[in-house]
Amino acid sequence: MHSNGDMIRTKDLGFWERIYIPEIIKGLGLTIRQMFRPDITVQYPEERFVPPAQFRGRPVLVHENGVERCVACGLCSRVCPALAIEVQAAETPLEKERYPEKFEINMVRCIFCGFCEEVCPEEAIIMSKEYELVFESQEEAVFGKDRLLVPIDQVKERLDFLHKHR
Ligand code: SF4
Ligand code: SF4
Repeated sequence: MHSNGDMIRTKDLGFWERIYIPEIIKGLGLTIRQMFRPDITVQYPEERFVPPAQFRGRPVLVHENGVERCVACGLCSRVCPALAIEVQAAETPLEKERYPEKFEINMVRCIFCGFCEEVCPEEAIIMSKEYELVFESQEEAVFGKDRLLVPIDQVKERLDFLHKHR
């Protein structure tokens, strides 16, 4: 804009642009082309969306042969920007020495950032493919080990993805 307040035109329209009709035809052509492209809309919930491995759904805890991988180091809890994770460590006779006596994630707070997964030295907390989360109260949204633990087979695809791209 000039100091006197006049607008500067950055592009002068040509004759065909000024009469609009070719531009309207071009626009219609684009619309018609889109009509014949494959649908990408998923008719949820009748159709389920199956996310790819890079998808970051709710975090889960991995267990292998019935034992959680977590060693209760607390790194995930410290890095979590939403302060969603609470870990309480206890001793175990197993080789890893410590395990999470209590491990909770508040799913109302969680922003699915994946920092917990990134920082975990044991690959014990992994972003899953689960995206359907419904709660009727604040208490229900706090997931304990009973809802967080999943067998390693269920997150294998994600682990493979992390090994390949991390
Ligand atoms: S995904 Fe992010 S917000 Fe959610 S628990 Fe992990 S670090 Fe916290
Ligand atoms: S999930 Fe990983 S980062 Fe979090 S406490 Fe357990 S071992 Fe440490």
